[in-house]
Amino acid sequence: MKGRLHSGLWLLLLPIIHGHSVFSQVRGICGITAEEQHMLYEQIDRFKQPTVEMRETYYIPIVFHPVARTNGTGAYLRYDHMLDAICKLNEGFSEQGMVFYLPGVSESIRFDVKNNLAFDNPRQSYGASVMKLKADQTRYGVNIFIVNRISYDPSQQTLGYYSPTYDYVVMLKKEISSPSSTFAHELGHFFGLLHTFYGWEETQYNPSLPTPTEVTLQTANITVPVEYVKRDKMRNNQRVCEIAADKLCDTEANYKLGFGYLKCEWMGIAKDPDNVPLRPQERNYMSYFLHCDDYFFTQEQGQVMRNNYLSPERNYLRKRTPTVVDAPDGEITPIYPLDQEELEVYGLLTLDWEDIPNATHYLIEVSRRRSFSNIVAREIVDKSEFALEFSPNKYYYWRVKPINETHLCEPFSAKFVFKTGTIPVRTSDIEDIDRWWITAFPEPKITMYTTKAWRGQLVIFDANGSTVHSQSVQIPSGRSSIDLPIGLHPGVYYVQFEDERRFEVKRWLVLP
Ligand SMILES: [Zn+2]
Repeated sequence: MKGRLHSGLWLLLLPIIHGHSVFSQVRGICGITAEEQHMLYEQIDRFKQPTVEMRETYYIPIVFHPVARTNGTGAYLRYDHMLDAICKLNEGFSEQGMVFYLPGVSESIRFDVKNNLAFDNPRQSYGASVMKLKADQTRYGVNIFIVNRISYDPSQQTLGYYSPTYDYVVMLKKEISSPSSTFAHELGHFFGLLHTFYGWEETQYNPSLPTPTEVTLQTANITVPVEYVKRDKMRNNQRVCEIAADKLCDTEANYKLGFGYLKCEWMGIAKDPDNVPLRPQERNYMSYFLHCDDYFFTQEQGQVMRNNYLSPERNYLRKRTPTVVDAPDGEITPIYPLDQEELEVYGLLTLDWEDIPNATHYLIEVSRRRSFSNIVAREIVDKSEFALEFSPNKYYYWRVKPINETHLCEPFSAKFVFKTGTIPVRTSDIEDIDRWWITAFPEPKITMYTTKAWRGQLVIFDANGSTVHSQSVQIPSGRSSIDLPIGLHPGVYYVQFEDERRFEVKRWLVLP
């Protein structure tokens, strides 16, 4: 239920609300131009018929392009924020059966555009052409360019836009890092939707003047019929709601009433040309009310978007399907270090955990604090392990979020903790050595499986870091074993394989 204030009370509130919106808040706007929306206005009729093919799920690949300055700086965007932005998008589109996913996960989020104009002024033609070039190389998903700034107007900030000419979406960085309704709004444009108030973008509705029957977008010299409240209002044998504003009849008449409005619920006075009071859909994604908690697309809007997705010009979005559609299943179990383990070593250590079914990637976070407020590392990896340089004698907390292309919103694992020691060690995977282990009985030896023949050095050092044994080894591919020296003093040793580039180490306890 939408509560509406009595008009007398409204008059008392007006100066206050108005004062806020005009003077103390930078207004966020969508940057789609009049010409661009006119293109959508011209083509939307094609997408209005009932969806020809009704499926349960429409998978839509997303490709993120965080844009950097020409010198490579400024593109930093947290991976968890990018995943969250897609999660929020999927909440908004869930009723439409539309599911956004990240093809290949990590290859769809890396920054690869370095250009000062694209970074700070993407509407400028050179910046736009740089992005167009990039988008043409990645036409396997909706291309999203994430930029630092779009407009230079200090009083109103452009938050994002869709360019029908170049067929990509541009988003302000902050609209991705703290997800708002803007992302879903721009994807609404991408899939053919107009603003519910189309025509009023350049005109401020004035309740003290008679409402016109047409409104003009001066920048493009385009005149748009004004929508009436009554759905059966006719003009030239056509329902006005079919030709006015966004051309959809289940989105109510709205004269850009949300613009600069600080509340979600419209309590103002606005009347159509027949003097019928407007009841705008504040929570519609394509309206301009920015302060609502929950937004929606109407049924007709959903139909337009699905038909757009199924149209020939969107073939490129349907060329591939997600590799995994089931959710990662199971809990993260640490292998190394174990939870609460006190290590003797520090340095380059590889955190390792059990594989999770249906997880193709993992988002890992390492922190010095239990709250994870201070992050040492945050990375998306495609194996259930992660190598990082750790300082001596410190506590480290880590947690892992299993993900795949379609499931980016799984909860993090429990928090694990370990303490590093004082003995420096360098470990790094030698990928040719698949796995190996040390057995102490009857004689100490190493058993190993290699995927390729490998030659290098086997080094054993004690807990003080002193080398006690070293030998060259040539290991054939497949299973093999190496005898370890006998007669060492009881204690902790480290057995290390190394070649020119890589190290791999295991702890070996020699018992009395
Ligand atoms: Zn818009």
